[in-house]
Amino acid sequence: MKLLVTGGCGFIGTNFIRLMLGSHPDWSIVNLDKLTYAGNRLNLADLERDEPRYRFVRGDICDRDLVMDLLAGNSVDAVVNFAAESHVDRSISDPAPFVTTNVQGAQNLFECARQRRVGRFVHISTDEVYGTLGPQGQFTESTPLAPNSPYSASKAGADLMARAYFETYGFPALITRCSNNYGPYQFPEKLIPLMYLTAMADKPLPVYGDGQNVRDWIYVDDHCRGVELTLLKGRDGCAYNFGGNAEETNLNVVKTLLSILGKPESLITFVGDRPGHDRRYAMDYSLAAAELGFAPTLDFATGLRRTIDWYQANGEWLAQVQSGEYRRFMDSWYEAR
Ligand code: NAD
Repeated sequence: MKLLVTGGCGFIGTNFIRLMLGSHPDWSIVNLDKLTYAGNRLNLADLERDEPRYRFVRGDICDRDLVMDLLAGNSVDAVVNFAAESHVDRSISDPAPFVTTNVQGAQNLFECARQRRVGRFVHISTDEVYGTLGPQGQFTESTPLAPNSPYSASKAGADLMARAYFETYGFPALITRCSNNYGPYQFPEKLIPLMYLTAMADKPLPVYGDGQNVRDWIYVDDHCRGVELTLLKGRDGCAYNFGGNAEETNLNVVKTLLSILGKPESLITFVGDRPGHDRRYAMDYSLAAAELGFAPTLDFATGLRRTIDWYQANGEWLAQVQSGEYRRFMDSWYEAR
């Protein structure tokens, strides 16, 4: 299979490309990435150097001519769209780039793929499109979309556009909605790598509100396997939920991390809550289990240890991503609190 993967220099895209090229010797991948602050070409530098089945193209998913060129002449069997602005806090400070990339960019990809008659399109979405839950219940694929942040609203916008492309044009769009990912290569503005770095520096660990917001955590490889199954077996026009069976409060995540690192809980500092902060997400992934054979394989404690081992073994990667844009982001983040 010849794949166009977008956003492959980000966290999940990097893991997906590595897994797919590793497990499918007959697949080739073109990775289209704009290299925003969250994209790191060096994540896949070894593949660029040694793997003829991998090609990197720097560019924007909003660029119609470029995308049409990349899809020309049956050069691509399927598209997997990971490219996005992905950080909720940034969407609160400035929603505009979220609409540009997450809505307009996705629509541009759908349109180009439709015109080029691409046979399959997997659009990567998120559990956040469903909004928030009380203490009970889980999101299913028929839960109404009720996004609460500019980020999740932009993701929901693209999901609805994918649905409309299927209903209107018979475009072979599939949507994956997954819970919180963690694992290697995650940019350290997100909870787990942020807390890891802060704890290692013996600085206060900022936890939003009362720390009781609940997220379902999934190891990134399990999500990537879900995307692979969707690509291979999903029904056109369907959305599939994916989860890790690991509901944890943010406070518990931070405490578990501190205990693995042998650091004191006195480092935890509660900070003002995020506006519109969803209280709880939980995923019912029984449709993906029944139709695709999906099941998460790693429990949270094992996955977290594996992730920390990776950070400890990849100090150079961490040092590199912490320079420049990351440093500026963290400085302004702390200043605002
Ligand atoms: P990320 O921020 O780590 O990576 C995003 C990548 O997209 C970066 O490499 C960036 O350079 C690229 N990009 C951004 N704008 C682009 C544009 N206009 N054109 C081309 N490339 C562009 O994000 P991630 O955490 O890897 O998430 C990937 C996808 O998965 C996103 O669509 C996100 O909404 C979704 N998702 C993430 C999670 C999670 O927990 N991280 C959970 C569910 C769904």
